[in-house]
Amino acid sequence: MTATPREADPKSFIKGATGDWEVVVGMEIHAQVNSEAKLFSGASTAFGGAPNSHVSLVDAAMPGMLPVINGECVRQAVRTGLGLNAKINDRSVFDRKNYFYPDLPQGYQISQYKSPIVGEGEVVVDLEGGKQITVGIERLHLEQDAGKSLHDQHPTMSHVDLNRAGVALMEIVSKPDIRSADEAKAYVTKLRTILRYLGTCDGDMEKGNLRADVNVSVRRPGEPLGTRCEIKNVNSIRFIGQAVDTEARRQIAILEDGGSIDQETRLFDPGRGETRAMRSKEEAHDYRYFPDPDLLPLELQADEVAALRRDLPELPDAKKARFVAAYGLTAYDCDVLVAEKEAADFFEAVAKGRDAKAAANWVINELFGRLNKEGKDIGSSPVSATQLGGILDLIASGAISGKIAKDVFDIAWTEGSEPAAIVEARGLKQVTDTSAIAAAIDEVIAANPDKVEQAKAKPTMIGWFVGQVMKKTQGKANPQAVNDLLKEKLGI
Ligand code: MN
Repeated sequence: MTATPREADPKSFIKGATGDWEVVVGMEIHAQVNSEAKLFSGASTAFGGAPNSHVSLVDAAMPGMLPVINGECVRQAVRTGLGLNAKINDRSVFDRKNYFYPDLPQGYQISQYKSPIVGEGEVVVDLEGGKQITVGIERLHLEQDAGKSLHDQHPTMSHVDLNRAGVALMEIVSKPDIRSADEAKAYVTKLRTILRYLGTCDGDMEKGNLRADVNVSVRRPGEPLGTRCEIKNVNSIRFIGQAVDTEARRQIAILEDGGSIDQETRLFDPGRGETRAMRSKEEAHDYRYFPDPDLLPLELQADEVAALRRDLPELPDAKKARFVAAYGLTAYDCDVLVAEKEAADFFEAVAKGRDAKAAANWVINELFGRLNKEGKDIGSSPVSATQLGGILDLIASGAISGKIAKDVFDIAWTEGSEPAAIVEARGLKQVTDTSAIAAAIDEVIAANPDKVEQAKAKPTMIGWFVGQVMKKTQGKANPQAVNDLLKEKLGI
């Protein structure tokens, strides 16, 4: 499957001093594979262990040690390729990519160069305003992560922690199909969602489990690609957007000044809001790639791949299409609901047998709003789907108004009790008894003869009366009944 080239979109052009510029972005995402053990050793991948506590002799590159491929990492890469609608290569080759780093004891990284495990694919990215773009995937390959140098443990020496050395990474390379900072952020967000649905990477950017190398160039609209710079290891979605904008503006300033762009690797400094040069870009031949003689080419069996395909979960695009069709929700609401699988499951549990639009509103506005405010995720929501469903049932049966329902939600959130029990214990049941409502209305009318006169001339004044009656009934009166009775008694 190949993506069609992007049309230029004048709305995303950057205005320079001498005219419009188009930004062109391609990304290499390093995503840590969800797996108990490393790519070529049985050492643990657990995060946060004491330094060098998860290091086998293979990871430490002791002489004579031999790598053995971890089958689960291979399956995770294939699942990811399938989730990206990509070509799965039944034969791939591991190569040595040679370079010196203090945290790379082998002196080379085992990676895949000419023959990656996954070829071309695509990701559909949803943008604001309902617009969609397709970003082509160039390839996905498996490779080892490096260790970590620690410079803050000793006044004059650096230490090294090899816990991460040899952990499996998927490097997912996009085509240069991205045209703005917003598109770059949306692409990574969508890719992360797909990986999390697949369970192949947890997408935790704070732990460095998903990091982006962002290739940025600029050109006059319609011109050939400009020289690009690669911004290494950007570790948050917000920073990815800032890095694209900052780097594009830096390049535009140089070009408008009559200069030219040097192809180089740069670092984004979020504190200063600038990118700065790290090293001039290496070419592939600098790494002296060659097939790792310790590893046979990796061959996949067609039935294994078919079995992995059969077992794929429903992915976000399919889920969104089903939500739009089955629940009659807007595309925007569906995007919000399917962004996390747990949230989508929560919504479906609430919506089952109930008004889906009401369920979506409560999940998106009340539940997500409160979760966001308190920095919680859906998995630790104090209000369960059963409880939220209970609140919706109470509204649907007329037992409580929408306004009281928000109070019940708040009580359920803080105290954890069941909605029906909360309503019962606190006497929150809606007053539908017209004689009680009528009595409250009579009191309000008797106390405000001037307002009654005004309302006769200006019927919109009824809103004020509704407010007064609701106050008298502690918000428990059925608003429709209040409205109807008021109109009758005021003669409007
Ligand atoms: Mn890489």
